[in-house]
Amino acid sequence: RVLAVRGTPLPGHPPSGAVLVFHDVTDLRRLERMRQDFVANASHELKTPLASIKAYAETLLDWALNDDAVNRRFLERIDEQVDRLNVLILDMLSLARLESSQAFFEHGPLSLIPVIERCVEAHRDRAAAGGLALVFDAGSLDGDVLILADEEAIRQIFDNLIDNAIKYTAEDGEVKLVCSLAPTAVVVEVSDTGIGIPRDDLPRIFERFYRVDKARSRELGGTGLGLAIVKHLVSSLRGQITVTSRPGVGTRFTVQLPRAFVPAPRALDA
Ligand code: ADP
Repeated sequence: RVLAVRGTPLPGHPPSGAVLVFHDVTDLRRLERMRQDFVANASHELKTPLASIKAYAETLLDWALNDDAVNRRFLERIDEQVDRLNVLILDMLSLARLESSQAFFEHGPLSLIPVIERCVEAHRDRAAAGGLALVFDAGSLDGDVLILADEEAIRQIFDNLIDNAIKYTAEDGEVKLVCSLAPTAVVVEVSDTGIGIPRDDLPRIFERFYRVDKARSRELGGTGLGLAIVKHLVSSLRGQITVTSRPGVGTRFTVQLPRAFVPAPRALDA
């Protein structure tokens, strides 16, 4: 699209030509639209728990204050909604920091397998409470596998993926993490036998606030920001994340993180 035609004649010379300046504003427009969508979505997400809190508080003030049973129930609901707002705001802040590159991560050599193992262990009780098997298979990999990353970034990536796998898998299902080596990367697959993701939704699940089923995600405590955060973190580590899924069968996320090749110490000459 031509935005401007400029022709500045030299003094004493008639104009002999024109300069056409082309500006491709497609990307700018797309970014502006994404920003507007984000503000609209964020406002909506924040308003929903606030409206509940207001409704419970008003009912308590109007008539329920002296009814001990109702009192307690409503205060518990208010407490839940405040927790929800808290998670949402923390996720929004994480994402904003990542997008403005303010997140400060020390990308030093990190032994990946023990960090993932700790993430898995942190979810063991929740998986058991949901009647799920949680399996960690590091294959032949051990603490010697190094990547250039910060432990906090790795924790956030795998916490989110394991948390989703548990959330979207029904009782008696299985959540499994399998690690392997590719020539220049470590590959970690997080798979589940859960509800799966319809084909049309798959390309959009890394978008901010995109959810296949909003009501279900909210009920399970989701914010719709987890995978957007994961995608940013993986990219900041120069890795890749892909997903395959079949509704009713399960979902598999594959994360590839480049290996750090630390030169072996040279043998000293005798
Ligand atoms: P949420 O907080 O809603 O879980 P995410 O950004 O983590 O948000 O995920 C976006 C959406 O992708 C989810 O709402 C859900 O619809 C879908 N999703 C993510 N992981 C899984 C999974 N393991 N199984 C099925 N659906 C998933």
